[in-house]
Amino acid sequence: MDKYLVFGNPIAQSKSPLIHQMFAEQTQQDISYSKKQPEEVDFKAEVSAFIIAGGKGANVTAPFKEQAMQMCDQLTDRAASAGAVNTLSFADGNIYGDNTDGVGLVNDLKSHNVQLTNKTILLMGAGGAARGVILPLLAEYPKQIIIVNRTTEKAEQLAARFNDEKICAISYSETAKTTFDVIINATSASLSASLPDLNPACITTNTVCYDMVYGAELSPFLKWCSQHKSQLVIDGLGMLVGQAAESFFIWRKVKPQQSQVLAKLRNKLQGID
Ligand code: NDP
Repeated sequence: MDKYLVFGNPIAQSKSPLIHQMFAEQTQQDISYSKKQPEEVDFKAEVSAFIIAGGKGANVTAPFKEQAMQMCDQLTDRAASAGAVNTLSFADGNIYGDNTDGVGLVNDLKSHNVQLTNKTILLMGAGGAARGVILPLLAEYPKQIIIVNRTTEKAEQLAARFNDEKICAISYSETAKTTFDVIINATSASLSASLPDLNPACITTNTVCYDMVYGAELSPFLKWCSQHKSQLVIDGLGMLVGQAAESFFIWRKVKPQQSQVLAKLRNKLQGID
């Protein structure tokens, strides 16, 4: 039985073991998938120990995505551009790193019939999650990706890294000057029930609002967007399942079906199952 796990700290609430167990059952793959919570200083030693114990791959979540990248012998373009790895594969004595967050986001948007081609996208946040989705968003040929962050210099530095005329940075006060087709909240603000300082004038009835955070109820940000005209608000549960499906595909070369797994997780979140 091939062994996988997810590293994170904290990790108790992680849904990854449940998601991968459902994918494995559905595709009849004989795998085990557990979770591990190392201290920050012990992360690399724990990965090495897992490889020695026969581990085939691992997911990596906060705060280890940058350390995971440093351990890799080979990175995909999307992992290198993110500066963060959420999927490790161990083969032939090498460590391979990928970042599947962006594919998870783009596929979730598509599953809601949100097309990104020629659209103006506002990306809020400049942390690992925001970095991870820029290249996959660019691959959809948007008109522009505008990055906004509480610490504006980080947004400017992130935009500059891409050196692409389609990517720029603004401050939150400047969001009053224009409207956006899609707004993606890649900040952790909703986890502390706070709202980024977005100007409501930038939302129209056609603006799609996405929050990477998910929960039993709509996040504070998505509630706020609904109150300010947005008619389509989407939380990050589909992105979570989508990034897991892409990791599963990388490891097992089988694409799992996502909608049933997503429905089951949604029910669990809402206490129905
Ligand atoms: P980081 O800690 O790397 O970055 C946090 C970002 O949020 C920074 O840009 C920070 O701004 C900003 N921020 C925090 N609080 C506020 C606030 N009150 N107002 C405005 N901006 C704020 O986190 P990650 O990038 O790794 O993750 C971001 C979120 O995305 C997390 O909540 C995570 O759970 C979620 N996520 C969801 C995934 C999914 O599959 N659904 C996958 C990956 C992440 P500043 O730079 O100024 O501090």
